This record gives sequence, C-alpha cells and structure tokens, in this order.
Amino acid sequence: MAEQIQKVTTARCPRCQARLTFERLPGPDSWECCPECGASLRVVSARPLELRWEDRAYCDDDY
Ligand SMILES: [Zn+2]
Repeated sequence: MAEQIQKVTTARCPRCQARLTFERLPGPDSWECCPECGASLRVVSARPLELRWEDRAYCDDDY
C-alpha cells in the first residue's frame, strides 16, 4: 500500500511572519486570513504561494 503523503503548502504572513499552512492551495486573487494577527491577505500567486497584506476589512483585523 502506498504511503499517503500529506502535502501542505506553507507561506509566511507578510505582517507578522507567522507560518501559514494550507492543505488546499488557494486560488489566485482569493483572500485568506492570518490566524495569528488577523491580517487580510490576498493571494497574489498560487505557485509559489505568495501572500500580500492589503488594507481591506476582509478579516477581523482586531485580535
Ligand atoms: Zn499575520
């Protein structure tokens, strides 16, 4: 039986440098929330995964 390798994609939050892991690759131009600082992060590139912190009230930015 083949081993199941769980592939996760990681990226760093440009605001707090926390490592974010994604089990599914987010699509370009989608939005993610940093679980550490609550920054609204736009996916500017999916491969390699690149996030940009933008000033938009997508997430609750008030942790
Ligand atoms: Zn963050």
